[in-house]
Amino acid sequence: MTGSKPIHIIGGGLAGSEAAWQVAEAGHGVVLHEMRPVRGTDAHHSQDLAELVCSNSFRSDDANGNAVGLLHQEMRSLGSLILRAGDAHQVPAGGALAVDRDGFAAAVTAALEAHPNVTIAREEIDGLPPAHWDQVIVATGPLTSPALAEAIAGLTGAESLAFFDAIAPIVHRDSIDMGKAWFQSRYDKAGPGGTGADYLNCPMDREQYDTFIQALIAGEKTSFKEWEASTPYFDGCLPIEVMAERGPETLRHGPMKPVGLTNPHDPTVKACAIVQLRQDNALGTLFNMVGFQTKLKHAEQIRVFRTIPGLENAEFARLGGLHRNTYLDSPRLLDATLRLKAEPRLRFAGQITGCEGYVESAAIGLMAGRYAVAERESRTLAPLPQTTALGALIAHITGGHLAAEEEAGKPRSFQPMNVNFGLFTPLERMPRNETGKRLRGPEKAALKKRALTDRARADLAAWMSGEAPRAAAE
Ligand SMILES: Cc1cc2nc3c(=O)[nH]c(=O)nc-3n(C[C@H](O)[C@H](O)[C@H](O)COP(=O)(O)OP(=O)(O)OC[C@H]3O[C@@H](n4cnc5c(N)ncnc54)[C@H](O)[C@@H]3O)c2cc1C
Repeated sequence: MTGSKPIHIIGGGLAGSEAAWQVAEAGHGVVLHEMRPVRGTDAHHSQDLAELVCSNSFRSDDANGNAVGLLHQEMRSLGSLILRAGDAHQVPAGGALAVDRDGFAAAVTAALEAHPNVTIAREEIDGLPPAHWDQVIVATGPLTSPALAEAIAGLTGAESLAFFDAIAPIVHRDSIDMGKAWFQSRYDKAGPGGTGADYLNCPMDREQYDTFIQALIAGEKTSFKEWEASTPYFDGCLPIEVMAERGPETLRHGPMKPVGLTNPHDPTVKACAIVQLRQDNALGTLFNMVGFQTKLKHAEQIRVFRTIPGLENAEFARLGGLHRNTYLDSPRLLDATLRLKAEPRLRFAGQITGCEGYVESAAIGLMAGRYAVAERESRTLAPLPQTTALGALIAHITGGHLAAEEEAGKPRSFQPMNVNFGLFTPLERMPRNETGKRLRGPEKAALKKRALTDRARADLAAWMSGEAPRAAAE
């Protein structure tokens, strides 16, 4: 270990664990401050580092055709602990990388506990870190403890921090009454990969709609904790009852709009409102209620949503809910190496930066760790090309998004995002097949993804070779 001061990392989740590993492997001391089990969160159940709070999937592992699969590959090539433990504890999941959650988290915890450069402190950091911590990575995630969140909001301005994510209910397809519902996409649009009949539609007449709106407004809601009460909603996912409170017609001009749809059971009658459900799994057995994010209590959701024609006997695979998702307005607040412009000794990583997902959080942790190491060694890392998955994600967080929005004259609206090919620098030329012909449909999409991922691999390799590898520097 070098004799310099340790780098402090707050939060031992996906991002903090990966950042700690990168710093430790580079030969620097790291103190990882994790508040569990001293203080818990609403979602974590164990005291393991890198606990997966919900699904056990790291999503697609296809590095040629999928942006998150490519991100896996890039992280593996940069020595990711999260991917190493994920690969070692993989369970069968088709093309996805899914893991045995307990084995995975135990492996990450054991690797960090055993590393000679890592000290793990089980404590909550309940305010701004002490002034003598000259380099800090804040990786406290979507459920950052309230005291620390307040301290960060004091630095960034409250409007730049806390939001909620809301999820919509999911219904078992075979519990929907097809004597009342029907399949149709709005205006029969097929769209990419669609058939023109992809949504399930449930119609309401005026009386049913008015009663439904009243029930939504009167329904019992989950209450927020006091300190959460003033947190603004993320406008893209307003709870349905909040929309209903904005005016009786709001929903039928929003997610329940009846336009572009014709009821085959009675084509002469025009519906006042229509609830749409979208396929949620490949088997087509589950459908989620489009735009129906809600904080109604679970029993109320079942009662109120079963008044929707076609859903009288609906069985719910998952009910709606809200979860706290603390994240920064990063494009305005962070510099290109994830440091808070207002206080550069603080660097941010993981979901709190406005990425979304386990893998993305760990990926940002990986880069935060590398940026911190470079700073400690007075080196400058060349910017990651935005043609790579890692670079595209960092660019989205640290300014690409903002620049694009401002250029288009649009108001800023930074939103949490999974990695996707839309964040990558577009290809200069569309690929063609061997005959030189322009392609269409799935063949074009597959070739384009292959071209994007091949370019990413080449560009990451070039970036890595120019990175002044540590071995050479030592
Ligand atoms: C309820 C819920 C379900 C989710 N489900 C999924 C899913 O299925 N798939 C998916 O890809 N993503 C999911 N996410 C999103 C996200 O990818 C995960 O939350 C992911 O764990 C984020 O990684 P992270 O490292 O940023 O935060 P975390 O993994 O949450 O790690 C943050 C750590 O910081 C600690 N901490 C917080 N405050 C302090 C403090 N003041 N001092 C010390 N330690 C502190 C916490 O205890 C925690 O261990 C979900 C998020 C939530 C909230």
